[in-house]
Amino acid sequence: MNMIVTKFGGSSLADASQFRKVKEIILANDGRKIVVPSAPGKRNPKDFKITDLLYLCQAHIESSIPLDDVFNLIANRYKDIVLELNLSLNIDSYLNKIKSDLENGASKDYAASRGEYLNGIILADYLDFEFIDAKEVILFNKYGCIDTDATYSALKKVLIDGKKAVIPGFYGSDPTGNIITFSRGGSDITGALVSASINADLYENWTDVSGFLMADPRIVENPMQIRKITYRELRELSYMGASVLHEESVFPVRNAGIPINIKNTNMPLDPGTLIVKDMEPDFKNPIKGIAGKKDFTVISIEKAMMNSELGFCRKVLSILEQNCISFENMPSGIDTVCVVISDAQLKNKIEILVEEIKRTCNPDSIVVHPNMALIATVGNGMSSNKGIAAKVFNSLSEADINIRMIDQGSSEINILIGIENDDFEKGINSIYNAFV
Ligand code: ASP
Repeated sequence: MNMIVTKFGGSSLADASQFRKVKEIILANDGRKIVVPSAPGKRNPKDFKITDLLYLCQAHIESSIPLDDVFNLIANRYKDIVLELNLSLNIDSYLNKIKSDLENGASKDYAASRGEYLNGIILADYLDFEFIDAKEVILFNKYGCIDTDATYSALKKVLIDGKKAVIPGFYGSDPTGNIITFSRGGSDITGALVSASINADLYENWTDVSGFLMADPRIVENPMQIRKITYRELRELSYMGASVLHEESVFPVRNAGIPINIKNTNMPLDPGTLIVKDMEPDFKNPIKGIAGKKDFTVISIEKAMMNSELGFCRKVLSILEQNCISFENMPSGIDTVCVVISDAQLKNKIEILVEEIKRTCNPDSIVVHPNMALIATVGNGMSSNKGIAAKVFNSLSEADINIRMIDQGSSEINILIGIENDDFEKGINSIYNAFV
């Protein structure tokens, strides 16, 4: 590989021993030229993330509370890393400047960004790579949205001749020079933008798990790893709750056709999960993953000759729109249509909705099914493979689970079923066991 962009998450850079692992990984492949670090994450479940502490510092100042105690926690984490790595870097000068900026009313985004900034300075020193401040190359417009064209041309200008560099993740700057951050977990986006700007051969995203699992390990015991998956399949699974990557990070690399490899810093020899643009359907293993979410309500509307009535669905959907409710899904039959809405969206508005649908659409019946869960069974092999749906439904029937809703989206890579919340875990397990 000629050009690999490597992004390391917070747990991969939580302390000096993790920094050592990162260096070993970078040195193991000369293609790993650009490194995008997160801020130090938790070293154990009870520990704090540096980004959270930085937000806390800023909140202290805003409420006129001295920040010394919290700031010292941050400063000590960085000082320990520098000391243990034997670096001659004068980290105190950086820390003092940040502390005084915070005390002088620096913004929330500035505060949060300093976690990545300091980690970038230390990592560049440790690797002997050039440090490139993200504020020079990750450029937002005056509305606070990323300006992709400006960002790509700024990155291209500095990343010439196979330069080896560290660019901190998570932040950039707007046209007036203010620091702006992405949403939480946004270093993934920085890595994707850097990869796309230089048309990298590979975007490696290093974290503390060996990629995606076929199902949530809190529900299925020891699920298998997904070795290779397409962007589309991943999108279907992440929409249903499976997450390792920041959602927005996929688009820049997907557009450029650059594969992403999710890798485990603590087990670097594990192949991880490779996310690619296209792949041949795997007929032996047509299912890539099973994911799902609880707490939906389904409104089932029936009206004879609905299929020939003009504008029926539009009227239903305008009622949702007027009530500021977005829906997840809308399976339909000849005389029926169901609207699936997450309870978080619905916010106790069900009675109003039912009343308005009755008044405006005059249906023959309208039935509300609360406490529903959705399960997505995803795989690009299912479109050209017989019996996949039968297997999903059989497994649920054998587990004595009643299916309330079925939808195979037009993408033909996802079979979505609705069942009772109480059957959710059993349902995921029975589908998983049917395919694995
Ligand atoms: N450090 C930031 C966060 O905790 C960004 C990142 O890790 O990607 O959300």
